[in-house]
Amino acid sequence: MDCIFCEIIKKEIPASILYEDEKILIFNDLNPEAPIHFLVIPKEHIASTNEINTCSSDVISHIFVKIAELSKNIKELKDGYRIVTNCGKNAGQTVKHLHFHVLGGRKLSWPPG
Ligand code: AMP
Ligand code: ZN
Repeated sequence: MDCIFCEIIKKEIPASILYEDEKILIFNDLNPEAPIHFLVIPKEHIASTNEINTCSSDVISHIFVKIAELSKNIKELKDGYRIVTNCGKNAGQTVKHLHFHVLGGRKLSWPPG
């Protein structure tokens, strides 16, 4: 299976890694849409939010705990940030490995496009 995020996990291609443990990886987005824009991914290949089930509940909760911890240590995020996950073609999902975008460091408009 061809998955660019699995390749990043295996260190087959480089990424700017902010945090890593046995369950998740956090790295900067290659094409940032905001002054702070990083991606949080499970190391297990989960294609999208559609594939989340009770077996993935541990890693999903872990992801949100780490986002809360990390965001408190990034001064640009102290006034707020947004977590986004795109699922499927109507949402514009381009990488079929579950990822949560964390965006901040500027005022973000709402609603998104
Ligand atoms: P999405 O469109 O929601 O599937 O988001 C995929 C994201 O992955 C985009 O924001 C891309 O800029 C980002 N991306 C793709 N390849 C890489 C890479 N090699 N390293 C870091 N981010 C990447
Ligand atoms: Zn993958």
